[in-house]
Amino acid sequence: MKKIPLFKPYFRVDETLAEIKDCLENSWTGIGYKTEIFETEWKNYSSFKFAHFLNSATSGLHLALNIFKHHYSWKNNDEVITSPLTFISTNSVILQESLKPVFADIDDSLCLSSNSVESLITEKTKALIYVGIGGNTRNYRKIKEICKSRGIIFILDAAHMAGSKWKKTNKQVGIGADCAIFSFQAVKNCPSSDAGMICFKNEKLDSMARNMSWLGIDKTTYQRSKNNNYVWKYDVTSKGFKYHGNSINASMCLVSLRYLDEDNEIRRQKAALYDKFLDENHNLEIIRHDDDLYSSRHLYQIAVDKRDELIQYMASKGISLGVHYQLNSYFKIFKNFNNNSIPTAENYSSRIVSLPMSVSLTDDDVRLVAREICDFLKASK
Ligand SMILES: *Cc1c(COP(=O)(O)O)cnc(C)c1O
Repeated sequence: MKKIPLFKPYFRVDETLAEIKDCLENSWTGIGYKTEIFETEWKNYSSFKFAHFLNSATSGLHLALNIFKHHYSWKNNDEVITSPLTFISTNSVILQESLKPVFADIDDSLCLSSNSVESLITEKTKALIYVGIGGNTRNYRKIKEICKSRGIIFILDAAHMAGSKWKKTNKQVGIGADCAIFSFQAVKNCPSSDAGMICFKNEKLDSMARNMSWLGIDKTTYQRSKNNNYVWKYDVTSKGFKYHGNSINASMCLVSLRYLDEDNEIRRQKAALYDKFLDENHNLEIIRHDDDLYSSRHLYQIAVDKRDELIQYMASKGISLGVHYQLNSYFKIFKNFNNNSIPTAENYSSRIVSLPMSVSLTDDDVRLVAREICDFLKASK
């Protein structure tokens, strides 16, 4: 039986090894060198003015809240409106900074609902984290506008969004956000082994991120050793973290970025095929991505009533499905913050399932997955 995995990262092996070889031959695998080259390449690709390469998007989300909290003198228990339907990274960092997560409801795109967001704003609301789930952007502009008009910091968790572009401008989604954070983790679009990018709108905050991601040290080792003249003296100007990325992962990202648009186009083609082969008459709802968007299509999601049985049935056929995500507000760490009514999120989180999606998925794989799903739903009616 052919196995079809949920995700399967695809790497251009020889090209990637050539970039890594440069690092090994130059005896430089750490921060600087390829990390600086990749930051430049990413800025050229995305049109972000500032970008700092990190060891993960989780680090980036934490760094963003830490820097905003310090810069704007937020107090403990100030509120951050956020999505309950996301990877735990988005929300655990709110607790790390002793801020209060306020879970808003979503709509049928699985993105935040602007009505729910508006109803939850208080004088303590300092920030909002929008998650572009699967690469999607529903209500993105509306919520960004609400934040702007109410003086709320708009943070984009763009972990799924590398290469999601507006059709109108062909520009990466996220320009204009106060901070956008991307993931280059192995199963995300633009894969490495583990890495992320933090893109602040404000230059001062970008330089704070550079300082804070390298333990608050005021010069990088790369800067200090650039002229064959290792400058040993430095100062530590804040209580930082070790969150910066390294040249090996930047090497992997450099190659993945070269093919990102091409790879995302393949993902969109597979998504269109799923749209064609899945029959919505069989008690199946397709989660749609917006029409004005070239979605990165990190995920292809549907909602069905017998979700758990479907996952088991498909596993018996060698096909792996996933759930993105369990409702974060049900996790024990959030038990004191789980008090808003979020019926749509509750409903979808019990019904959504992610279908196999990767660059190496074949058209026949898509046809097979869709057929098995329809067979199961027909039989279980
Ligand atoms: C993967 C993911 C993250 C974390 O990314 P890492 O680079 O693995 O830290 C954050 N948010 C969402 C929505 C994710 O899917």
